[in-house]
Amino acid sequence: MTQPSITLPASGAYSLVNLRLHRSHLEKPGSLVFDTEGFALAEIDISAGAIDRIGPSGQGAARSQAIDCRGAIVFPAFVDCHTHIDKGHIWARKPNPDGSFPGALTAVGEDRQANWSAEDIERRMEFSLACAYAHGTKALRTHLDSVPPQEDISWPVFETVRDRWKGRIELQAACLFGIDQALDEAWFNRLADLVAGHRGILGAVTYMVPDLDMLLDRMFVKAMDLGLDLDFHADETDDVGAISLDRIADAALRHGFEGKILVGHCCSLARQPDARVKATLDKVARAGLSVVSLPMCNMYLQDRRADATTPRWRGVTLLHEMAARGINVCVASDNTRDPFYAYGDLDVLEVYREATRILHFDHPVGEWPATIAANPAQAMGLADAGTLKPGASADLVLFRGRSLTELLSRPESRRTLIRAGKLIDATVPDYQDLDDLMEP
Ligand SMILES: [Zn+2]
Repeated sequence: MTQPSITLPASGAYSLVNLRLHRSHLEKPGSLVFDTEGFALAEIDISAGAIDRIGPSGQGAARSQAIDCRGAIVFPAFVDCHTHIDKGHIWARKPNPDGSFPGALTAVGEDRQANWSAEDIERRMEFSLACAYAHGTKALRTHLDSVPPQEDISWPVFETVRDRWKGRIELQAACLFGIDQALDEAWFNRLADLVAGHRGILGAVTYMVPDLDMLLDRMFVKAMDLGLDLDFHADETDDVGAISLDRIADAALRHGFEGKILVGHCCSLARQPDARVKATLDKVARAGLSVVSLPMCNMYLQDRRADATTPRWRGVTLLHEMAARGINVCVASDNTRDPFYAYGDLDVLEVYREATRILHFDHPVGEWPATIAANPAQAMGLADAGTLKPGASADLVLFRGRSLTELLSRPESRRTLIRAGKLIDATVPDYQDLDDLMEP
């Protein structure tokens, strides 16, 4: 990944010619001619770090400094809207004993209590962000485990890390706790103030606890008081009784909530009867929720069987039905090399490749490439990310592949990264860098 396939002129004014752009990554299709997968041969003029012009290949007044991309696909730099960089890369010292969801919860809880000092999480966050940056990500939201006393350790570290990465990765964070913990109202109020103080997002895991509606009300009221967006982990289970997505949509409508709400997982929706699915999704659309699917983590944890039998469902939620209703849908990384997911490297192209296979983002490709670009940018409230348009920062990922089958059949580990019009070093850190943290 260290050798760019192109060199760029020092002047910073040049044209990338003979490249392929996807319709879903463009603000306006202009006069581009798209093939059946939605790709068009195009060229991009760049100067002073920004996109000046996007036009059909060979038809514009391409600059004398023209770089031939040989028909390769160019994506906007990635937006990864659901990650856990506070948990990442602890696998070597704390594996999941059986690959199950309860196994993950217990293992992470034990590791958090034993090891999550400020230094430990800061170094693992840095490692994760170096990976994400080297794969082409420019904006990322993480959840931060915020059960006592972790909130007072993790949030100040997050603020330091966000400042350090400013200009490279735009970082957001949402607090994470089981929603029943908010029964302790004094603790919850203090946490919400802490989150607001760090310009974070109010988040929780919405288990089907008896007081769920009341607790959601508590979170919505607090978010409106403090001007915070909301982010929930919902229904990450095959239990058809898990319907917290429906309850979140109800709460959003009940409160007339005007901020942004992102809901992750929603796995159990795929197990519910059609009538319930339809009623829930109509409500989700009306409430304006965004939904993010985490296909790699879901495939790993859902339908994991203790009796040495084979999994029989894919674990992902109903993104096609959601997109058909106009719901803003995204896919994202979720966990990396921790008990919730043994693998992963915050490579959003890998997420998209796996999503294509697991969720059938193909035949037709349609607008699915937006699920790692414009859609998460919208869910995160980012104006300058996810869309290629004149005036936007020239933040691009240039691949080798020229079509979807070429793009998704190889890891594309020699992709070229352009940020603000310049080539950046795309080297992932060595695993050895974290070895000293992995000793028991
Ligand atoms: Zn998650």
